Amino acid sequence: TEQKLLKAETLNVVGELAAGVAHEIRNPLTSLKGFVQLIQNQTGDYDQYLSIILSEVDRIEHIIKEFLVLSKSNSQNFELANVGEIIQDTVQLLNTQAIMRNIEILTEYEEDLPLIYCDPMQLKQVFINFVKNGIEASGVGGCVKIVMKKKNKESIQIQIRDNGCGMDEEVFRNIGKPFYTTKEDGTGLGLMVSSNIIKHHNGRLDVQSEKGKGTNFMITIPIHTENSTV
Ligand code: ADP
Ligand code: MG
Repeated sequence: TEQKLLKAETLNVVGELAAGVAHEIRNPLTSLKGFVQLIQNQTGDYDQYLSIILSEVDRIEHIIKEFLVLSKSNSQNFELANVGEIIQDTVQLLNTQAIMRNIEILTEYEEDLPLIYCDPMQLKQVFINFVKNGIEASGVGGCVKIVMKKKNKESIQIQIRDNGCGMDEEVFRNIGKPFYTTKEDGTGLGLMVSSNIIKHHNGRLDVQSEKGKGTNFMITIPIHTENSTV
């Protein structure tokens, strides 16, 4: 079992990110331009070109959407919130997707959990990212489990566990870097966005994963973030 602490290195990431975004957007755009030129020069059936154009446009939209979430992670609306409710919302949102793949999402809460001073919309974004990753890593009949408990007097911990594909050493080393993805339609931004949000909550993110066995993401968030410097 490998363990690692994911840190959001916000400052270094910004420049890398801008370059990465430009690169990632340039490829689909070049391809779009080429196919439009082909259509201009040809008569007959354009269906196959049009479907490629559409999927490339979708990809651009997908990248921009995740990127916007990242840029929004600087403006915050902190309030006292029930994190269990945020998790319930998340499960409700992703349940159809899970059921379609015959994957179960389970939740387990400790009794009498305190309200947390946090940005509920942003925490929801974090949970969505992790649960989605769990679903995507799981095969038919898999299970994603969300466990929430008090870690100590000052903080709570939310674990998102799956018994899916797990990560080999190389994937494990690279997760959280902008645009690192092993998925054909992935953006490789989810973990980076999530670790940034967790950082803004003065929290920490730990990962444990074993190839072929599964993965456990552990999010620790302080109950009060009054002294937050953000
Ligand atoms: P994306 O989901 O778009 O690929 P993420 O930043 O969410 O981007 O994840 C980056 C990579 O980390 C994934 O492509 C995958 O290889 C790996 N990963 C993340 N979560 C899991 C998980 N629960 N199980 C196995 N691999 C994972
Ligand atoms: Mg993801």
